[in-house]
Amino acid sequence: MWMNHDKQNHILLIVIIFVLMFLFAGTAVISFYLAYTSNLVLYKMVLNIILIAASFMSFYIFMNSIFIIKLLRGQTISVLGRKVVKSSLGFIYPKIVHLGAIFGLNKDKIQEIFSEINNRIILSQRLKVRPEEILVLLPHCLQRSACKHKITNDISNCKRCAACDIDDLIELKEKYDVKMFVATGGTVARKIIKEQTTRAIIAVACERDLISGILDVRGIPVIGIVNDRPEGPCMNTRVKARQIEEIIQHFIGEEE
Ligand code: SF4
Repeated sequence: MWMNHDKQNHILLIVIIFVLMFLFAGTAVISFYLAYTSNLVLYKMVLNIILIAASFMSFYIFMNSIFIIKLLRGQTISVLGRKVVKSSLGFIYPKIVHLGAIFGLNKDKIQEIFSEINNRIILSQRLKVRPEEILVLLPHCLQRSACKHKITNDISNCKRCAACDIDDLIELKEKYDVKMFVATGGTVARKIIKEQTTRAIIAVACERDLISGILDVRGIPVIGIVNDRPEGPCMNTRVKARQIEEIIQHFIGEEE
């Protein structure tokens, strides 16, 4: 199955996660030392609370790093591991973005790797979904900017001229009978998700929109695919229909 293999960025991400872990571990050690050398009862109590919280966080991040390394190496992880990583995505991710900036790791790259981690968790769950329960959400920028046909309300308004990837994507929609919508932004995407009976979402977007969508949608698995932007952001972007097809096949149990 298609997957991103950007090893250098994976290693940098793991290093950043370990730095985060050591920051908490360092806080725990300093709190322990200060509590040990102090005679003030209240001060000691506060330091002991910080010590316990920082030790717990350090252990939690360590567990996460083990599971994330396994996922990025393509190994399967236990149900517990999936739950630990999933629960931490919203918590660890913002801190990693800040630390990543210090280490010179591009924000887009961090978002892409987190989206990849999320995808790996979902795909390893081996969910089985009927085609009509799959919702494919596409960004408006996939449509050729010069195209005059309004496909945001109804993608079937496309005249199938093949000037953009919408043509191939409609072919997929017809082949598998999945639901497919073009969203002009996060608010519209949320509205579409609310209105549709959906058990799995395949979302195409830029890194930033993908990660906010993944963290935003609760209770429905979201597979994120980053679009290609050969002409810059938000303009005539591209996606390979084959990537989406592989995920549809995975969900409906027709993997090749
Ligand atoms: S395939 Fe042609 S008609 Fe359809 S959205 Fe793209 S440019 Fe417009």
